[in-house]
Amino acid sequence: MNSSCSVNIIDGKAAAARVLNDVRDAVSALKDYGLHPALAVVLVGHDPASQVYVRNKVLRAKETSIRSVEHKLAAETTESDLLGLIADLNADPTINGILVQLPLPTHINENRVLQAIAPLKDVDGFHSENVGGLSQGREVLTPCTPNGCMHLLQDTLGDLSGKHAVVVGRSNIVGKPMAALLLKANCTVTVVHSRSVNAGELCRQADIVVVAVGRPRMLDASWLKPGCVVIDVGINRIEEDGRTRLVGDVDFDSALRVVSAITPVPGGVGPMTIALLMKNTVTATRLQHPALTIHSTPAEATCLSIS
Ligand code: NDP
Repeated sequence: MNSSCSVNIIDGKAAAARVLNDVRDAVSALKDYGLHPALAVVLVGHDPASQVYVRNKVLRAKETSIRSVEHKLAAETTESDLLGLIADLNADPTINGILVQLPLPTHINENRVLQAIAPLKDVDGFHSENVGGLSQGREVLTPCTPNGCMHLLQDTLGDLSGKHAVVVGRSNIVGKPMAALLLKANCTVTVVHSRSVNAGELCRQADIVVVAVGRPRMLDASWLKPGCVVIDVGINRIEEDGRTRLVGDVDFDSALRVVSAITPVPGGVGPMTIALLMKNTVTATRLQHPALTIHSTPAEATCLSIS
């Protein structure tokens, strides 16, 4: 049992601010080589939540001096018109990253659209070329949310080698890439999903538990090994005590009794996702200019050179 005052409540906002600072430095260093990272954000339709996400992405781009170009298309845009726009953006050398805000209207095949994005501009990391590259351990663009979780884990624990990590959830956007990133970081990885038997027992063996299920407060202290680190990706809107609140997939108050560190909801993984999108835009720019290398010095993000 832990006294809650000794628990590290992982501050995702502060971690995101550090990532964004590094991005700002890297953008400025790239400009010295005549490169100005640019992100194209494509929104189809008027979904209110998507509009908020897009607005926040454009704001973060502005804050980090990334050039953003918005394409707001009518809800009735045809798939072929959208594919035409993506082909233009793929061919445009001044655009480094392409983000198509999901969900798309139901008459458009989401997978066909995501697969049409040039892999080197696929800042969401959803193209099968990038998914395959990640599973082979190659340097590719990787999905932003699991990437953000890795930053938080490495900030908290340092080297993850040999840790037993359990990922709860196996979606293409969170669970599966999360498992691949943990494996790449030399963890022993178990993936738990809706058909798993004895999910609680599996989680209780873990040094690291990453939860991406979408079920409010599904895991409590009884699922967790004392001293483990919990990353709660879930974002669930619930009605409680007459008001609407956001809660994670982990029962935060219960988990506090046993964990050594945990992300809160909100304020944990959420802020990292957009920060990593900006970082991916810089990475995409760099991957598109293979002669440009980043040295692994302490000032890694700012130390660029042409090899
Ligand atoms: P999905 O619905 O795509 O996937 C949920 C996963 O949870 C599935 O793999 C499912 O298993 C598994 N699951 C469902 N019920 C159980 C159960 N009882 N026991 C074990 N596993 C179960 O969700 P996402 O991955 O897209 O998102 C998960 C959560 O993360 C959501 O709350 C979402 O809002 C949040 N999220 C937050 C982000 C952020 O930026 N912070 C970004 C993306 C998502 P199966 O495959 O067997 O059906």
